[in-house]
Amino acid sequence: MKVLDLRCTHGHGFEGWFASNEAFETQLASGLVECPVCGDTAIVKLLSAPRLNLGNAKAPQQETASAPAAASSSSSSSNVPAAPMSPEARWMRAVREVLAKTEDVGDRFADEARKMHYGETQERGIRGQATPEQTEALLDEGIAVMPLPIPAALKETLQ
Ligand SMILES: [Zn+2]
Repeated sequence: MKVLDLRCTHGHGFEGWFASNEAFETQLASGLVECPVCGDTAIVKLLSAPRLNLGNAKAPQQETASAPAAASSSSSSSNVPAAPMSPEARWMRAVREVLAKTEDVGDRFADEARKMHYGETQERGIRGQATPEQTEALLDEGIAVMPLPIPAALKETLQ
């Protein structure tokens, strides 16, 4: 089936459906093709615009143009610096570092700190639990201890 753009001598444009170009020529010669507006049978066939060819030519260009754009956008997103850390996040990270570098001695903290201070055991970073009285006693003996409030959320993951 052929769809032809046709026009009569009065300038009326219309579409004609024909089995083939030959069928159109035959019907035109027989005066069977007439303008639906004015009935004119002096019909000319217009060159149909190559719409489909234009569409096909554009499609690959869009694909090749969009492919590098997608790749560059995904790689640049990984280079985007992380959002500024919140004070809570900074504190959590600091605590994690301390925890990673220290040995957990639990409630033996006061004993271990005292042993290290008096050279009974090797100096190392330790952490643990101490009562306020134990902490005060250690400080009185010149043993440097530092209270480290650990965020509850981090505590739960450790225990
Ligand atoms: Zn007409």
